[in-house]
Amino acid sequence: MTHDANCIFCKIIAGQIPSRKAYEDEELLAFHDINPWAPVHVLIIPKAHVATLSDTGPEHAAMLGRMLALAPRLMAELGVTNGYRTVINTGPDGGQEVYHLHMHVMGGPRPWLKG
Ligand code: 5GP
Ligand code: ZN
Repeated sequence: MTHDANCIFCKIIAGQIPSRKAYEDEELLAFHDINPWAPVHVLIIPKAHVATLSDTGPEHAAMLGRMLALAPRLMAELGVTNGYRTVINTGPDGGQEVYHLHMHVMGGPRPWLKG
C-alpha cells in the first residue's frame, strides 16, 4: 500500500502519531480532528497515501464511494441526529493543509467554531 514517510496522516495510520479513532477497516480510517470546528468532527481517510482529490482517477471510485458511504454510519454511531457537513478541501485554493486525501465530517449542535 502506498505510504509517504513524511506524511502526518500516514504516521497516524502507522500508529506513529496517536489519534482518537472512530472507525477502521482494511481500506479506511476515521479519527477525530485534533482541532474540531464542530462538536463532532471526524476525518475519513484512505489508508493508501493519495495526496489530494485531484490525484484520484476512475480506479479510486470505489474507495471514494466507501468514504462517502461511511459518513452517515459514523454520524449515527457518534449520536449526530440533526445533520452534518461533509467537506473535502483540495489544493492551495481549496484550503488543503494536510496533503493526504481526507473528508471532514462535522456535526452536532450549533454554533460551530467554523462553517
Ligand atoms: P485540511 O485543511 O487539510 O482540509 O484539514 C486538515 C485537518 O487535519 C485540520 O482540520 C487539522 O485540525 C487536522 N489535523 C492536522 N494534524 C492533525 C493530527 O496530528 N491529528 C489529528 N487528529 N488531526 C490533525
Ligand atoms: Zn499520507
